[in-house]
Amino acid sequence: MDGSVAGDAERTVSGPQSAHLRAGATDSRARIARRFERPIDISDMGIRLSARANRSINPYVQVFDVDGNKINFRAPIRGGLSFQPFDFGISKVGGSPDLSAVEEIRITVWAGEGQAVDVWCDDLALVERSETGTVVVQFDDGNLTDYSEAFPVLEEHGFTASTFVCPGSIGADGKLGLSELSELRDAGWDVASHTVDHEHLSALDEAAQEAQIAGAKDWLVDHGFERGAEYLVYPFGEYDQTTLNLADRYHELSFAGGYPGYGRPTNRHVIQRVSSPDVETATRAIDIAAAYDGITVLFYHQLTANSEPTRSAFASTMSHLADRESNGDLRVVPARDLESIVV
Ligand SMILES: [Zn+2]
Repeated sequence: MDGSVAGDAERTVSGPQSAHLRAGATDSRARIARRFERPIDISDMGIRLSARANRSINPYVQVFDVDGNKINFRAPIRGGLSFQPFDFGISKVGGSPDLSAVEEIRITVWAGEGQAVDVWCDDLALVERSETGTVVVQFDDGNLTDYSEAFPVLEEHGFTASTFVCPGSIGADGKLGLSELSELRDAGWDVASHTVDHEHLSALDEAAQEAQIAGAKDWLVDHGFERGAEYLVYPFGEYDQTTLNLADRYHELSFAGGYPGYGRPTNRHVIQRVSSPDVETATRAIDIAAAYDGITVLFYHQLTANSEPTRSAFASTMSHLADRESNGDLRVVPARDLESIVV
């Protein structure tokens, strides 16, 4: 064992104590392992862990089958918050793991970068997966290419998406205007909130955060986007405790960065998404959704001949998604359909 593990009776979600993992600046990792005398079946289950950390970190929950095949589950834990439940996505599959015969589960924290980290873990739980693989496509920042590039590609496959816009830049150069937004909405897209001005929310006080969040929601409702107004994406994926409280007051679902393939979300205001994936990353994230009945949210920014990924890479990814959907391996749904599968 590197690092250290100790019980902490001061900080708990359930039961008398949490586990405090500390990976020191020179320790590579801290770990808790649990071996089962008889293998357990978690094939229909996702992983949720309640955790807090003194700085932002992506811990692992590693699951090993009886033959040593494994899945690494991961979630980004924002530093400095109180305990939050995090729904863990799938970052890596080693071999062909048999989730009906799991022998060991480990929680591992890697410090890295010469900086110590403290993580408190509590209440590791198995959560039902959805009935089938589920993929959601989203766009941030209200770029005109959502309309000019992505919309025709998605329409060809019969998919809809969400566009998260900042009311402070509607109709600006290179951004979507009201007429494009209305057309996207009429075609089934969710026109949703990315706050008024795309500020770093956790750098703002509560009143300023509320102005950014409530102001964007009001704008959406006032302009006929009531349905999309229920959904929020945190600018830069950044949030703090105040942000989470406001998100809960004004929105049904809120999205942040992270991993693909998680089970039914238990934390409706930290729903993970895969950022601007190239074809290889997106294909893997889509195939994980199909293989594990997981939820995968992909999000993109501007799509041009030079963007990363490019518009043609985006089109290739959507072709793969369409192939998997027409095979019956997964379904492609708008953000609002996630509401019904939140636990
Ligand atoms: Zn953004």
